[in-house]
Amino acid sequence: MARIFCVANQKGGVGKTTTCVNLAAALQLAGQRTLLVDLDPQGNATMGSGIDKRALQKSVYHVLVGLATLDEARANSPSGGYDVLPANRDLAGAEVELVDLERRENRLRDAFKQFDAEYDFVLVDCPPSLSMLTLNGLCAAHGVIIPMQCEYYALEGLSDLVNTIKKVHANLNRDLKIIGLLRVMFDPRMTLQQQVSAQLESHFGDKVFDAIVPRNVRLAEAPSHGMPGVVFDRAAKGAQAYMAFANEMIERVKTL
Ligand code: ADP
Ligand code: MG
Repeated sequence: MARIFCVANQKGGVGKTTTCVNLAAALQLAGQRTLLVDLDPQGNATMGSGIDKRALQKSVYHVLVGLATLDEARANSPSGGYDVLPANRDLAGAEVELVDLERRENRLRDAFKQFDAEYDFVLVDCPPSLSMLTLNGLCAAHGVIIPMQCEYYALEGLSDLVNTIKKVHANLNRDLKIIGLLRVMFDPRMTLQQQVSAQLESHFGDKVFDAIVPRNVRLAEAPSHGMPGVVFDRAAKGAQAYMAFANEMIERVKTL
């Protein structure tokens, strides 16, 4: 059975897409059959996987509104080896169109059902909002991975996301849980970041992943080559951290 995880945080620029792409590539390298679902109309996860978002015949949009099956819309990442359900600007229209459709929050979940046996992991890259698209991700998932920077405001935004996850759990998806918080773009020289990091550990305990992703320019350079950082420069500190994170996820799913 596929384990389905949303990478979510309603703030933009916090490392969701970087986490999704690198975790997908690292899991695939570790022998886990992985599907990455791009749920952001910006299509950054699609491009960062080496797939041209402007050339898509079918995308996640078509799957959500019932114009294509997952099989018709998925592609394989030439650089990362994992499968991708890609996205582009078409997806921006889905937000409005979904409102009138049956089972509007469950469209993605329904689309996954027949492909469950083909993957060990499905990762959903959510847009930076708590929208109908994110809701589709949360309704389809077993858990949420929350990437965050160790900044003062990071904790404020977190309570909105945690409340949304609680509501979805109570009303729409009893399977949903927070798998963990992933510290990203971490700079250990900054005292504030160390303090926030320690605060997260004391408040959230083992919900904070051991792996910490440092700020690392190689991770930021990789998307312009259409490659996940873990493929672009495997030896870089950022890539190493995502490999460690993938191993931690593989261990953690055994306990779910
Ligand atoms: P989101 O999907 O949450 O909007 P992204 O993953 O696109 O965030 O990251 C925002 C920006 O930060 C991107 O330019 C990305 O390349 C860069 N970035 C992400 N993680 C790191 C990191 N660990 N080190 C350096 N740059 C990073
Ligand atoms: Mg993104």
